Amino acid sequence: MNRFLKIAAIIVAGMALSSELRAQKADKGALIITPAQVKEYVDYLASDSLKGRKTPGKELDLAADYIAEKFRDFGLETVGGSYFQSIPYISQDLDVSSTSLSIDGVAFELKSDFIPFEAASDMNPEGHFNAEIVFAGYGITAPEYGYDDYAGLDVKGKIVLILKSEPRKSDTDSPFMGSKETKHAKFINKVRNAKEHGAIGLLFVTDPLNYMMLKPQGYPWPSLSKFMKRETLPFNVDTRVEGAIPAIHVGEKVIMKLFGSVDSLKAIQAGIDKSLKPNSFLIEKSRCDLRVSLITITTSARNVVGMIKGSDKRLRSEVVIIGGHYDHVGYNSQHKEGEDYIYNGADDNASGTAGVMAVAKAFAANRKAPARSLFFICFAGEEMGLVGSDYYTEHPLLPIEKSVAMLNMDMIGRNGSDTLQIEGADLNPDLRDIMLKENVDLGLKYVPTGNEMMGRSDHYNFFKLGITAVDITGGLHPDYHTVRDNPDKLDCDKASRIARLVYRTAKVMAGESRRYIIEPFK
Ligand SMILES: [Zn+2]
Repeated sequence: MNRFLKIAAIIVAGMALSSELRAQKADKGALIITPAQVKEYVDYLASDSLKGRKTPGKELDLAADYIAEKFRDFGLETVGGSYFQSIPYISQDLDVSSTSLSIDGVAFELKSDFIPFEAASDMNPEGHFNAEIVFAGYGITAPEYGYDDYAGLDVKGKIVLILKSEPRKSDTDSPFMGSKETKHAKFINKVRNAKEHGAIGLLFVTDPLNYMMLKPQGYPWPSLSKFMKRETLPFNVDTRVEGAIPAIHVGEKVIMKLFGSVDSLKAIQAGIDKSLKPNSFLIEKSRCDLRVSLITITTSARNVVGMIKGSDKRLRSEVVIIGGHYDHVGYNSQHKEGEDYIYNGADDNASGTAGVMAVAKAFAANRKAPARSLFFICFAGEEMGLVGSDYYTEHPLLPIEKSVAMLNMDMIGRNGSDTLQIEGADLNPDLRDIMLKENVDLGLKYVPTGNEMMGRSDHYNFFKLGITAVDITGGLHPDYHTVRDNPDKLDCDKASRIARLVYRTAKVMAGESRRYIIEPFK
């Protein structure tokens, strides 16, 4: 062997050695992530005592406390002085004691005679209206069909009464797109139209020509229901309808008071349908006194956060995010004795949460942090519509433009012992390539998927902002969102292998300085 070749051989050997060493090193950190560790975290998070971790709720809070406690034990740093990011939760219920309707001195009964809709959310502070009622047909203004229930009608400061549906609802030859419904038949468009014409309130009746059942339904307010609880109201960060006017669904008794009988209203409706000409008018003796009062319920849920600062002075301001949601869908409040009623969410997503925790622990155990910083986040409210990640990306604790990647884990311990899905792989080619390379040693079986699931977990809110972001998952299975998603069915070995993959991928990304390509998502 000549000298040069020898040197080359040494160099090659050295390179081989160093890459092997690197692999070993990566493995060494990753080896802290064990099935037993994952099992310990999952067994607590998915235990019956946490009742399915619904957002918001005291069991969810217990889970958050547990995760934060572990973050502290691992030695993660707080972010903005805390391991928590609080998410405000605003919802509203009907205040039954201050909601009333009377017409011309006759009082009606809440629930059996009238029920407010939720569009009443943002009304005047007193929630008290006193005005005459104008019958405004279907409440439709449709210049494209040459039809306007408000033509020549003055409803300023008045309460309008309108019918459900649109003229000639089931007539296949109707100018209103035949028997298909136009946008004008939509309730919310009728509320908007009434408001635009100056009405201050809206009474809505199910139209007697098309429906037998005229019972008011309104919104399923928990205060009017035996079965609904306030905790089950939708999780609204704040989705109140701005400037909406109160809208009330009224039933047969109100129709009889205003029109004498259901049949006379039916005759008026039939007349409009026949002529396709509006027939709107001020109703005699219809002075209406309406009070709608809502109780605003304010509470909160929390994202759990922690970080490891990068070791490189220049790169530590950049951050690789590792996340997963820790909430699930709760439990059935109605259930038989001895029946399983808790959605434990062991796979969805105690597994991914355990993954985040295990990866955090592994990084924290390293003597030296990678160049870039690492940020760990467990989201609340994913099951209510990605609420926690939505809130985080709207109110980031670390600059979005410095967030270089987001690795999300959601459901990593079911669906075969070694299958691996990377949702958004093709939209994130750089990230995918790193991950598949790191997977070579781990030997998980990569199952390519389309982008159908791209919007289905928290990574999506980051991707939308231009951050390379994927969801790492074992995929869906028949126990998904059932009471059977229990800890004993979870493959902790698989979950720990996927967590190791995330660890290794994050380690590569946090150790380099390049930015990653993402493809447009159509
Ligand atoms: Zn999930």
